[in-house]
Amino acid sequence: MTRWRLACSECGGEWFLEASYDLSEMRRLYHYCRFCRRNTFHDILGREE
Ligand SMILES: [Zn+2]
Repeated sequence: MTRWRLACSECGGEWFLEASYDLSEMRRLYHYCRFCRRNTFHDILGREE
């Protein structure tokens, strides 16, 4: 599992996603934002070791 740091493009809230797949090729991810409480686009800021 890799921890990925994401930032919601709507509210700017940052959080971590644990995923077994590689997000480094992606620029944006459509995912549920716990702050907005709905699905939004997220910027993938990088990998946390
Ligand atoms: Zn948000």
